Amino acid sequence: MAIMRVPSSTQTFQPVLERIADEIGRTPGRGRAADYIPALAACDPRSFGMAVAELDGTVYGVGDWREPFSTQSITKVFTLALDLAREGDELWEHVGREPSGNPFNSLVQLEYENGIPRNPFINAGALVVTDRLQTRTGDAAGELLAFLRAESGEPSLDFDHEIAASESAHGDRNAALAHFMASYGNIDNPVPDLLDQYFRQCSIRASCADLALATGFLARHGVRADGSRLLTRSQAKQVNAVMLTCGTYDAAGDFAYRVGLPGKSGVGGGIIAVVPGRCTLCVWSPGLDERGNSVAGVAALDRFTTLTGLSVF
Ligand code: GLU
Repeated sequence: MAIMRVPSSTQTFQPVLERIADEIGRTPGRGRAADYIPALAACDPRSFGMAVAELDGTVYGVGDWREPFSTQSITKVFTLALDLAREGDELWEHVGREPSGNPFNSLVQLEYENGIPRNPFINAGALVVTDRLQTRTGDAAGELLAFLRAESGEPSLDFDHEIAASESAHGDRNAALAHFMASYGNIDNPVPDLLDQYFRQCSIRASCADLALATGFLARHGVRADGSRLLTRSQAKQVNAVMLTCGTYDAAGDFAYRVGLPGKSGVGGGIIAVVPGRCTLCVWSPGLDERGNSVAGVAALDRFTTLTGLSVF
């Protein structure tokens, strides 16, 4: 199979996106929308959107690429970056960077690892990161929202209060994780305040275009859209590496094998991915597989790297 030419300044990613959308549209069986957060269950699993953003902010898209969806765990990448930018390596004393091999909301590992979560992308690890960002900023979710608005150039991005309330009403497991880590001294803020921040963080709605743009700093080796630096080059490498090894629940090995890019998924059906030095992607389709990754989303990214040859390998 011929590899499609990737864009120079006079070409675009548009043909490859349209080809992928056409293939996905002809594929039956797209998984099931998450139903453990009731407000997510209503999504149409056949929705599909995909966007690619180049380093200069040029965006290409197909399908429902401008439709806002529930970002959920994708936000864990941004809170990690925002906290790492502030506290540096000290963060890694409170959260690890190894794949967990367990479901994203598992409690079992925490006890025999003394309340230090395996990585920042399982829920326990994300709660630690949000807690630390909260201590440093006084409003972790607000800090995140401001960052996403600035990087996407979309000031209307906002929390979805219905989703946050729905998750709060069904949040016993996240509450258990937070209380358990607090008992080991690995949570600073009162647990109810932390959960409020975390549920609002996860509830932010954004489109594929918004998220592809907001992820751009990871393809620009730590540099934000306005040219200022958020992360050192080394820290940007660290975040990309943790995405590659831990970003897609306990299917990260399969995702790396199929797609070959740092990626982060969320139970809202979105996945962001980074081609360092080249471009960023976001794909959304709410139907999930049994591990919590978007079925059409993984398939679309798999096709993208196969058709363009743009992977990190
Ligand atoms: N807010 C969700 C939770 O904490 C996020 C899960 C996800 O997207 O992985 O359960």
